[in-house]
Amino acid sequence: MGVTVALIERFRDRLPVSDATPVVSLGEGSTPLLRAPRLSERLGVDLWLKWEASNPTGSYKDRGMTVAVSKALEEGARAVICASTGNTSASAAAYAARAGLPAVVLVAEGAARGKLIQARALGARVLAVRGSFDQALETARRLSDRGDHVLVNSLNPNRVEGQKTAVFEIVEELGGEPDAFVLPYGGGGNTTAYVKALSELGSGAAVHSVEAADRPRTLASAIRIEQPAHGRSVEASGAHVHAVSDEDIVAAWLELARLEGLFCEPSSAAGLAFLRGTDELRGTRVVVTITGHGLKDPGAADFHAPPPLVVDPDPDAIARAAERDLSE
Ligand SMILES: *Cc1c(COP(=O)(O)O)cnc(C)c1O
Repeated sequence: MGVTVALIERFRDRLPVSDATPVVSLGEGSTPLLRAPRLSERLGVDLWLKWEASNPTGSYKDRGMTVAVSKALEEGARAVICASTGNTSASAAAYAARAGLPAVVLVAEGAARGKLIQARALGARVLAVRGSFDQALETARRLSDRGDHVLVNSLNPNRVEGQKTAVFEIVEELGGEPDAFVLPYGGGGNTTAYVKALSELGSGAAVHSVEAADRPRTLASAIRIEQPAHGRSVEASGAHVHAVSDEDIVAAWLELARLEGLFCEPSSAAGLAFLRGTDELRGTRVVVTITGHGLKDPGAADFHAPPPLVVDPDPDAIARAAERDLSE
C-alpha cells in the first residue's frame, strides 16, 4: 500500500504543469477498470468498464478540475466560477475548498439533487439561474471575462488536459489500446479529451460518443445540454456520434446495475444503451466509461427502481416475499 498518488503527479509529463504549480488534489484518477463478464456475453463484445464514479466527488470531472484549480491558483485567481448541470459544480466546489478559493456555481433549473447538495455542503456560493444550462454557461463566461473569476467549465483547456488521463490509464491497464472507447456526450469536453489523448498516443482506436436523442429534455441530467460547447471540435474529431432514447438509457442503466453491480447515474449508461442497439462492435474489445455515481441522482433511481415491499418481522412472510421477488 502506498500513499495516494495525485493525478497530476502520475501524469506530470503529459500535463501543462511545472514545479511552480501548486498541486490541488483529493486523490482523483487511478479509478478501477472492471471487466464486465455478464454484459460481455449479452452484448457480444469484450466489454470493460472504466468506473469513474470512484473519483473523489463521484464523477470524472475531478480529473479536469484538479488541473484547472491548480493552474488557477498558480495564476493568482481570486475565485473560480462554473455553470453546471451538477457534477462540474460539485467538483469545482470541492477543489476550490481544497485550494482555499471561493467558488461560485451557477446551476440550471432541474439539476439533480445529489449534485447540488454536494456543492452546497462544500461551501460554494450556489446560484440557481432562471434559465437553461446554456444560458447559465453564457453568463458564467461573461462574468469570467471581467477578470476576477476563473472559469472552470470544460471550455477551460486545463480541464480537457486533465480528462485525457482516463485514456492513459485505460491503455496502461489493458496493456494496449482497445478497439473502441464509448462514452456519453453532453457538452463534448470529455469526447474532445479522449480524442486528444488518443492522438497523443498515436492510437487509431475509435471513439463513440453517445448523446440523448432529446437533448433539452432527457432524464439524464448530466447530458441535458442543448448546444454542446465542444460541438464543433467533436464534429471535427472523427468521433462517431450516436443518439439514444431515454427509454434505452433507462434499460441499459438497470441492466448495468443488475448484471454487474454498478449503480451509476442515468447519463453514464448512454454508452451501454448504444451498445445494446448495435452490432457494429461485435467481437471487439470495448471500453465504456461510466462517468458518474448513481447517488448523484437519487430522484431518477427512486422513480425507476422498485420500491421496498413492506413486510412483517416474520421469517415465513419474509421468505415468501423474497421468493416472489426471485421468481420475478
Ligand atoms: C459531465 C458529464 C457528462 C457529459 O460529459 P461532456 O464532457 O459534457 O460531454 C456525462 N456524464 C456525467 C456523469 C457527467 O458528469
